Amino acid sequence: AGGQAQREIPFAQPGSLTRVIAVASGKGGVGKSSVTVNLALAMARDGLRVGIVDADIYGHSVPAMLGVADHRPTQVDDLIMPVPTASGVSVISIGMLKPRRDQVVAWRGPMLDRALVQMLADVYWGDLDVLLLDLPPGTGDIAISLGQHLPNAEVLVVTTPQEAAAEVAERAGTMASMMHQRVVGVVENMSWLACPHCGPEHRLDVFGSGGGERVASTLSERFGYEVRLSGSIPLDPSLREGGDVGKPIVEADPTAPAALELSRVATEL
Ligand code: ADP
Repeated sequence: AGGQAQREIPFAQPGSLTRVIAVASGKGGVGKSSVTVNLALAMARDGLRVGIVDADIYGHSVPAMLGVADHRPTQVDDLIMPVPTASGVSVISIGMLKPRRDQVVAWRGPMLDRALVQMLADVYWGDLDVLLLDLPPGTGDIAISLGQHLPNAEVLVVTTPQEAAAEVAERAGTMASMMHQRVVGVVENMSWLACPHCGPEHRLDVFGSGGGERVASTLSERFGYEVRLSGSIPLDPSLREGGDVGKPIVEADPTAPAALELSRVATEL
């Protein structure tokens, strides 16, 4: 209020040295948030300064996955300080902008746009190497707003091997391209389960196979540049547990195959 001019988004400035990578998916539950937090932690371990904007209005599960579910950002003058985590990654979540935690975010386009801009422009991020954005699933208002405010953002698409998931993931990728954003890669999650009886060589294709490859090749063809399958992450109960207890697998169990693959993806992105 008060006729105050809106602050500019630092990451949208031509000289910005921060890579913005939005993590997108076609539908919920494919592991988008899990991938986001684990990539962030792996990048921080690689020595990068990393921030996360949790813009998933339906889930906003990132703070819990990082063990800061009950934390609130502080305010210094008219700037919001992001919540620091033990691993050095700072985070702001759309859930933190609600007056009460149990409140449902039932905002429409303009309010969501304002929330997104607030998390990008009114938060004191300092000098970041990478800002990861956990987008809501699908091709909704937040994705459009992001495309308008940050056409220079890159997009990482997360899918499962399942046909139906891949199809909607392609739509999310195509949407990014319509907003002139570059799709940097595809991560296939829940790719297989190492059979607990026969040993890790026996892989059970719980959700089928080929979804990641399919999305990568379809988008490559559609856009005229190579969209890589950046990695395939196996199912692992300890990945789920790490998220539940606020200690993601790349930290809690760094030599697990899922953690190694997530770390590799982070380094090669
Ligand atoms: P999304 O952000 O796409 O909705 P989440 O990251 O919240 O998905 O994951 C949904 C659930 O699946 C969470 O409980 C998470 O811990 C679990 N999960 C995600 N990826 C894996 C995996 N590779 N192995 C085991 N559990 C997983």
